[in-house]
Amino acid sequence: MSGVVYLVGAGPGDPGLLTARALELIGTADVILHDRLIPVTALDGARPDAELVYVGKIGGGASMPQEEIDRLLVEHGGAGKRVVRLKGGDPFVFGRGGEEALVLREAGIRFEVVPGVTSGVAAPAYAGIPVTFRGDASAVALVTGHTQSTAPTGTGRDPEKAETAIDWPALAAFPGTLVFYMGVRQLGRIAEQLMAGGRAASEPVAVIERGTLPGQRTLVGSLSDIAARARAEHMRAPAITLVGPVARLREDIAWLETRPLHGRTVAVTRARAQASALAARLRDLGAEVVEAPAIRIRALEPDLPDLEPYDLLCVTSPNGAHELFARLHAAHLDARALHGLRVAAIGPGTARALAEHGIIPDVVPERSVAEGLVEALRDVPVSRALVARAAEGRDVLPDALRERGAEVELLELYETLPEPLDEPTREAAAAADYITFTSASSVRFFVEAAASLEVSGQVVSIGPATSEELRRHGLEPALEAAPHTPDGLVDALVRSAAR
Ligand code: SAH
Repeated sequence: MSGVVYLVGAGPGDPGLLTARALELIGTADVILHDRLIPVTALDGARPDAELVYVGKIGGGASMPQEEIDRLLVEHGGAGKRVVRLKGGDPFVFGRGGEEALVLREAGIRFEVVPGVTSGVAAPAYAGIPVTFRGDASAVALVTGHTQSTAPTGTGRDPEKAETAIDWPALAAFPGTLVFYMGVRQLGRIAEQLMAGGRAASEPVAVIERGTLPGQRTLVGSLSDIAARARAEHMRAPAITLVGPVARLREDIAWLETRPLHGRTVAVTRARAQASALAARLRDLGAEVVEAPAIRIRALEPDLPDLEPYDLLCVTSPNGAHELFARLHAAHLDARALHGLRVAAIGPGTARALAEHGIIPDVVPERSVAEGLVEALRDVPVSRALVARAAEGRDVLPDALRERGAEVELLELYETLPEPLDEPTREAAAAADYITFTSASSVRFFVEAAASLEVSGQVVSIGPATSEELRRHGLEPALEAAPHTPDGLVDALVRSAAR
């Protein structure tokens, strides 16, 4: 039985630009043959037993010969497999998708084509350049900067030397925007030919490197100076070169590179389970996030005491809130079990976590630290308190309550353990512009994991307890969040980046 080969576009690099159909097919494929320029997370949803075959360039060198790729497509398709041929951008725009479709038709193998967001449109869009614009450009030409993708294969032609099949005078006369793929190294020649064909030397040109990816860079110049400027700025592939008056619109429409954390790398060391919300906020603000979870949470599953005798329940972290309810649920109980208790939360994140389980805390201090909670409880009568927390929590709160004559018991709900970090992750975190710490334990375990690594960026702390731990390890926090919450931490980063 013959399988199906899907010729799928993966978009220009931003994982968010993978289509719903592409993700669905990646998740069900038996075999995925993929290129280099696909989003880093594109294969995350592949089946664990899927066969992943890299057929792209090796270290900027030669790709697998097209004949070999064709052969693999026919072989797997012919063996009844669901095959995804995953390509950067759109498969039919300089992607050899057309050639592969012909080979499959010839071999009698069923195929489908899934268009992708092409880099020639997406990279300008992310740079704030619309490829068409009323009055400025009513047509767009997608042009290859060299002939490699159109030269017949197997003819022994050197694509670097081959004259492009482009009719330069006609292209120069084209009434609209010109978008060149694969042309950074040919910029000088492209500009010369267009000027020779009659385009004004002052015509705006934009070069967009790594469009839609975290390190996106855009250079704007004119036909007369763009080659020299691109050389000076070391603009490299992958890059799109756009020629036309629309390039000027970037001055008013640029949005990506104007985001507050654009161009900054931020390492997040908190546990993976909690890192995602913070990481997403930072990415929204334009940061490149290095996820380096130095800790992980392990539930201890203690037996719940009888809650009847207590008059105060203190919850000192969102994890504590969730684990507390996991224990209640395990005992077939719900929020009603806390009905007679006054509930105190250490900060807004913990209050939110409690609210998710149906409890609005009575006390939330202004300063989200144990000392702040002690202060907030000053006028609250307490005779017997239960403190729900991590095994390694600080004793500031229980000590202070005991000092006031209250009976205090601890309910240790979870412990934080070190999470092993691989070498590249540790190095990326240490080299980030900012490295963030949201608890003392993440400091401890990161320092342990990173051992001899020199942290080169600015150290960012969520609050005084974390800062104290940082100093104990010889790391001086450059920024401390106020309020001591993830939101406060993000604000501190944005303020620092603006300086
Ligand atoms: N099928 C792809 C193009 C493949 S040809 C598409 O539709 O986008 C490879 C060329 O695409 C690169 O040399 C570069 O010019 C362009 N390209 C691909 N990804 C890019 C990116 N993220 N930013 C800028 N240019 C990109």
